[in-house]
Amino acid sequence: MATVIAVSALSVGEMSDRVLIIDALSAGDGRRTRSRDSIGCGPRTIAGVFEKKQIGCRIARSEDITSRSQLKGFEHLALSAMTMDIPVSRRLVKMWRNANKGRVLVGGPVSSDITTVLELVKPDVMIIGEGEVTLEELLKVGFLNDEVDLSEIKGIAYSSSSGPVVTSERTPIPEGELEKYRPSTFRILDYRAYAASKVYVETVRGCSNYRRTRLELGTGRMCSECGGCDADDPGERLDCPEEIPPGCGFCSVPATWGPPRSRSTESIVDEVRELLDLGAHRVVLEAPDFLDYRRGQTPLTDPCYPPANLRAIEELLNAIAALDSVSNEDARISIENVKACLFTEEVARVISDTIPGTSPNIGLETGSESHLRAIGKCGSPGDVLQAIQIARRFGMTPFVYLIFGLPGETEETVDESIRLMQKLSETGAERIILYGFRALPGSAFEGFPEPTGGHSLGIKMQKAAAKINRSKKKDYVGRIIRGIAAEESWARHGYTMVYPFDEGPIMTIQGGFSPGTMLDVEVTEVLSDGLLLGQRVKKNISG
Ligand code: SF4
Ligand code: SF4
Repeated sequence: MATVIAVSALSVGEMSDRVLIIDALSAGDGRRTRSRDSIGCGPRTIAGVFEKKQIGCRIARSEDITSRSQLKGFEHLALSAMTMDIPVSRRLVKMWRNANKGRVLVGGPVSSDITTVLELVKPDVMIIGEGEVTLEELLKVGFLNDEVDLSEIKGIAYSSSSGPVVTSERTPIPEGELEKYRPSTFRILDYRAYAASKVYVETVRGCSNYRRTRLELGTGRMCSECGGCDADDPGERLDCPEEIPPGCGFCSVPATWGPPRSRSTESIVDEVRELLDLGAHRVVLEAPDFLDYRRGQTPLTDPCYPPANLRAIEELLNAIAALDSVSNEDARISIENVKACLFTEEVARVISDTIPGTSPNIGLETGSESHLRAIGKCGSPGDVLQAIQIARRFGMTPFVYLIFGLPGETEETVDESIRLMQKLSETGAERIILYGFRALPGSAFEGFPEPTGGHSLGIKMQKAAAKINRSKKKDYVGRIIRGIAAEESWARHGYTMVYPFDEGPIMTIQGGFSPGTMLDVEVTEVLSDGLLLGQRVKKNISG
């Protein structure tokens, strides 16, 4: 199999690079401050479509594009971003226009904010939602080289002389047809720290939470209790007479991507194998909820029923665990997002038997049961507590997510959240991850006010979470953690960032090391919530 990959990689490598794909995901207005050790699957998915059409491309991180000269030699630009990345996207497209004449395409989660992107980023075309079929069609009609009639292409937006145009919606790719589009594995080599980074491989697209918020929305719209969100017929849950977007009110995943569709076991295993053969050491099986993987029922619009498909999950994880690099412990596979209501003992057993020591990420959002229901979240705080207990029993290190500043938040809900955070930590949650609410376009809470720096309830929650996390981090001091050298530190001259091989925080150590070098690091100090200081304690294991 390695030979086949080498040949296909060579032919891909031989295509001249015509398109520069910029990965601006999480870059905000410049550099990523969170998720620094992550490589999302979106840019590789787009690269796969160009490769399918024999058009050479290359991926660059937005933070690595610092001058116009780096854009020379490319004919066209494709930019993948989230709404938070509009500032950096705007700057890069401006830089591109000053240096090149080619087309500019923008896509990814940023496409939920059509007006702002067209106004500020000014692409030639914005791809809305799923990119593969739309991009393929654009390439087929010759969009890169000719003036073409865009009005017939579904799922795009662009500016015309008479104003913004949004074409008709494109239906999501059906489950069995996702296989027609293979993300590029070769282009992982474009990422400098790929050998040390978490490389995300898509397993499921879309989310099954078709419950909706019961809070009154800014426009006076509100749930009229039609019963659709709890309908027995999964198809009935798809539409709301009040046009309230599905899912947790703060999230745009179900509205953007629709109900879950799973890739086949074979295509996921092939992609993981190729990435490992190219030198990746850490692969995350990405999904809005991994436990939605082939969970039956079409459309899958009930977040908690039927239970997880243990057979399908076991088949997938067994096949991946049998890959040479995984069984030799030279590579590590993990899962992240799971819904507490699906995370049972049986699920935990299958996961820990196949990919032990993983860190399931569980969204709680608020510790108040009534607030949780009001925002449209599935499950209950009790489900989350139980999931943490189960995860710990099976040797996992679970993370719990909460949000401050959510619509419907009160002093009481915050106090409940803080009490629950404490309880979750005592029960075994490895880390409390707290985000400030963002009013995402396309979500039910679009347009709601976001918490500002002086948001007193937010500050209260942040202090409580930081205290819990710092006390947990202190447990790391003195421990020896296996890590992989990634890149030089941005903040400390002469230091190298080391990403953990297993689950755990990012570390920094003195000295320069080639990316991909395996190291044993003794943790000496907690530098911040997300960063540990350490020193190398042993000789290079491999790499
Ligand atoms: S479909 Fe809309 S109106 Fe009906 S129960 Fe759900 S949120 Fe309420
Ligand atoms: S937060 Fe998670 S469960 Fe809720 S709608 Fe978004 S993806 Fe689905």
